Amino acid sequence: MESANLDSKKKRPRILIIYTGGTIGMIENLDNGSLEPFNFDHLMDNVPKVKMLDYDIENFQFETPLDSSTMTPRDWVQIVKVIEDNYDNYDGFVVLHGTDTMAYTASALSFMLENLKKPVVITGSQLPIGEVRTDGEENLITALQVAAAMNEDGSPVVQEVAILFENYLWRGNRSTKRSSDNFNAFKSPNYPYLAKIGLGISYKKDEMFRPENKDLQVRYGMDTNVMYLDLFPGISEDVVRHQLATPGLKGVVLKTFGAGNGPTSGWFLEAIKEAVDRGVVIVNVSQCANGMVNPTRYVSGNALYQAGVISGHDLTSEAAITKLMFLFGQGMTPEEVKREIERPLAGEMG
Ligand code: ASP
Repeated sequence: MESANLDSKKKRPRILIIYTGGTIGMIENLDNGSLEPFNFDHLMDNVPKVKMLDYDIENFQFETPLDSSTMTPRDWVQIVKVIEDNYDNYDGFVVLHGTDTMAYTASALSFMLENLKKPVVITGSQLPIGEVRTDGEENLITALQVAAAMNEDGSPVVQEVAILFENYLWRGNRSTKRSSDNFNAFKSPNYPYLAKIGLGISYKKDEMFRPENKDLQVRYGMDTNVMYLDLFPGISEDVVRHQLATPGLKGVVLKTFGAGNGPTSGWFLEAIKEAVDRGVVIVNVSQCANGMVNPTRYVSGNALYQAGVISGHDLTSEAAITKLMFLFGQGMTPEEVKREIERPLAGEMG
């Protein structure tokens, strides 16, 4: 009897909640009516049902909870450090985070946590947890359940960075925020959901990322000398040349039309080629959420390819820009970055 008890104790999932801020924990500032981040105790007081889960839950909170639109790579480093320091002590991690830059954090974490074999489930909400119709309570509870889910052999069901929001679990580095007011705020336009949340949680185990069988390798460097260059019909030479002349620039995510197409004007292709020749890595990502870059399908895409632009395949913009930051942050040369950008690191591209 006693050993049975000990056994069941041993099996209580241990989950660490990392609270970074976001709407989920915000309250209204009574002076101006704006929402601002508030502390973790307030958040947990509003989710008494968490106690009904038979889990050991502990928490780490950012000293100052943040609106995620103010986050920087320094905050990603802090989250990764907490996971690294606590990796062996917990079965899974739930990161509470604002929705605005959640897809960037999810992408960055997926690259920084190489060979991750435990769930890192990022969630938040559209309505603060203290509001009557909040989506935060359900999202938090489901995220905890996903972080605790085990296969029959005792291995975690999810072994990657994922975003849990309302009815779905998505691969983090495939996700994008698609609505500022819908409860189903996220989508991964080029990859199936990892789980559907309904009466139960139905996992798509075949779609899950499985890392190489090596130990967790944490990589911290992130280089912010990157930018988006977002095309539109009529974009001027001054604007393009000015942006590409940004001092210290190392990488560009070129947001192109359709299957990866852009203007064929001489000045445009010259400006691109000059930047490539200077060692700037330019990655072609489509403005279309769904589908992929096909660099040689049209003359206009092929011209970019000939100018030295690298295909970003079906990367999201968020994954493309954070991958550039990550690769340059590892001290790679432009040639190495070009090679690695086309190679999937953590299931971010097909
Ligand atoms: N501005 C908020 C944030 O990203 C929005 C949210 O959490 O939904 O922190």
